[in-house]
Amino acid sequence: PETARLVASRVLDVPDFPKPGVVFKDLMPLFADGAVFREVVDGIIAHHGRESFDTVVGIEARGFVIAAAIAYATGVGVVPVRKAGKLPRAAYSASYALEYGEATLEVHQDAFTAGHRVLVVDDVLATGGTAEATMDLVERAGGTVSGFTVLMELGFLGGRERLAPRPVHALLTV
Ligand code: 5GP
Repeated sequence: PETARLVASRVLDVPDFPKPGVVFKDLMPLFADGAVFREVVDGIIAHHGRESFDTVVGIEARGFVIAAAIAYATGVGVVPVRKAGKLPRAAYSASYALEYGEATLEVHQDAFTAGHRVLVVDDVLATGGTAEATMDLVERAGGTVSGFTVLMELGFLGGRERLAPRPVHALLTV
């Protein structure tokens, strides 16, 4: 559809970033194009329905950009899921394995009203570790994940299967 073409038109492939052999999908050109960014954000809202969530979660850091736009457009609040050590108050932590080592994400323990429906957003779904940890955190903090959306899914890395049966929505899958 139209949003898939828009995303495809505003992504740059960056070879050997952040390390040799990896092709990084850079979506900064999409964020920088006001008309395209607005259409993409509106497309995400239309897909889920603006009455389907009470809060939007953005994953540090590019997820913050998308989440804030969705929150503003729909009148809901935005909650950040952050890398370890950044949140000032009591937080839940979730760690997950990277190819080398481990990463940890955190959310404030009081971030959600019990039963609030939470739309989780990020820019790219790769292996799914980041998304899985985020959804665990949302649930531990009392939220209910109502949806998960990324601008781009790297299908060959199997993130969607790892997150099953949770629904994954991607504007563009490559
Ligand atoms: P995963 O945990 O699914 O392997 O990686 C997803 C996380 O890493 C997301 O937060 C995403 O922002 C970042 N990420 C991984 N690969 C890429 C990429 O090629 N491009 C961008 N923009 N982000 C990536």
